[in-house]
Amino acid sequence: MAKKKTIRTIPQERATVREQDPRERIGNFAEVTYRFGVKDALHEADRCLLCPDPVCVAGCPVSIDIPRFIAKISEKDYRGAYDVITDTNLLPAVCGRVCPQESQCEGPCVVGETLAPVAIGRLERFVGDIAIEEGWTNIPYIEPNGYKVGIVGSGPAGMACAADMAKAGCDVIIYEAFHLPGGVLRYGIPDFRLPNEVIDAEIGKLKSLGVKFECNTLVGRLFTIEQMITEMDFDAVFIGTGAGYPSFLGVPGDSLNGVLSANELLTRCNMMRAKDRDYDTPLPHGARVAVIGAGNTAMDAMRVCRRLGAQEVHCIYRRTRTEAPARVEEVHHAEEEGIEFHWLTAPIEILDDGKGGVRGMRCLRMELGEPDNSGRRRPVPVPGSEFEFEADLIVVAIGTNANPIIGQTSKLKLNKRGYIETDENLAASLIGVYAGGDIVTGAATVIEAMGAGRKAARSMKAYLGLRDTDAVYRSDATPLAKLFGIDVAERNFARVRAA
Ligand code: FAD
Repeated sequence: MAKKKTIRTIPQERATVREQDPRERIGNFAEVTYRFGVKDALHEADRCLLCPDPVCVAGCPVSIDIPRFIAKISEKDYRGAYDVITDTNLLPAVCGRVCPQESQCEGPCVVGETLAPVAIGRLERFVGDIAIEEGWTNIPYIEPNGYKVGIVGSGPAGMACAADMAKAGCDVIIYEAFHLPGGVLRYGIPDFRLPNEVIDAEIGKLKSLGVKFECNTLVGRLFTIEQMITEMDFDAVFIGTGAGYPSFLGVPGDSLNGVLSANELLTRCNMMRAKDRDYDTPLPHGARVAVIGAGNTAMDAMRVCRRLGAQEVHCIYRRTRTEAPARVEEVHHAEEEGIEFHWLTAPIEILDDGKGGVRGMRCLRMELGEPDNSGRRRPVPVPGSEFEFEADLIVVAIGTNANPIIGQTSKLKLNKRGYIETDENLAASLIGVYAGGDIVTGAATVIEAMGAGRKAARSMKAYLGLRDTDAVYRSDATPLAKLFGIDVAERNFARVRAA
């Protein structure tokens, strides 16, 4: 029997991962962080204590069986590891790259109490990338059930819901406003953090489940949610339209040329070839850029501006580094790329260059006061601290709101902030309509949106009277089991009977 691992017997050092040199990477959009090699993955897998009551699983919004997939890596059974992850998570190559593991699965890791926590995210990416290279998918036998399900929005929430409904046998169509699917994964997160090929590969899995994508389709303008149910024969609809409507500062000069939202900058760069030097794009390229905000969106916007050729990129944030919402790794990468941080600084006016453009901002120095509703200490202006900050492009990344179109064009109940109201099962106020992800919670994370998509799928299946088949679809289902045309729980039972 294998000896039980203890904190003393496991490798003490966390495996390091190779990264592109900051001096080189500011000149390209290629991925910054490389994948673990096999040796590093095995080293890191060996650091997992395989806790019988794993707190890391509780930290994962979709409850991946983390010790089990890591144990499979240790056995060099990478396919087995992939099967374990995809029991609950459709997109391991995405989540392994962008999940805030430090506050989710790795945060409570027992190893982390004494040493650096196990690099769960990097191990998940290792498996997800091998799966893409090898072309692995877990396509179950699907028996069509005659139900037609419409999904509005192709972000992580919509994709997760679509996958589960397709596996249950529904005919699933995803409507997407943009010309390409993926939601924020595509339009927001730049290639150097999440390459398009990874998104394409993961979307390919949905297509092989039979999910159809209809892009360039703005629901609420071409047809309404009510019409989907009453005229288009959808038996159930899921809304996962995200929270992509940008906020601006609300200060004088907000509408000058040279002020743009981070979402606009990133969308133009990621989806509209603004980073492609052979294309004449309308994206202004600043020489001295100021980005307002310190979340993941701000970090992405700053690092994109750097790569687009800005000589100086400055982060302006009214609190301190401790309160910055971005992932620690993102702030670190931004610093390595020469971004300058100005903590405790708030703009109060955008200054006109006399030709309708921007010449800078008037700012105030701040200090931290008592905690506010978010639990973070509130920034308070320092009297008499006003100063001017020079910039020729100002990018606003201070948060986003619900896109209003669905709310304006349907009778769905919204909350005070314009997000869709649902019950605890993610049912919205119209019968047969469900919602989840950022359009319900406000801006959150990829994995939380996926968790919501899956939860809504469970409710939709209950509503349609379908058995919940999302449990386990193993690639090793035998032809005999497939012959039964039934879900996996029964398939396993069938195998026992057949044995
Ligand atoms: P979205 O991903 O926003 O997808 C919604 C989709 O619906 C979009 O494609 C939109 O075009 C479409 N849509 C909207 N309205 C309509 C309509 N009327 N008709 C048809 N389609 C419509 N989270 C992390 O976990 N890690 C990160 O590193 C991270 N980085 C981020 C970086 C940026 C720049 C941004 C903006 C967010 C980041 N997030 C990150 C947050 C995360 O991406 C979101 O929480 C998540 O994508 C929400 O998923 P969703 O499916 O609810 O919505």
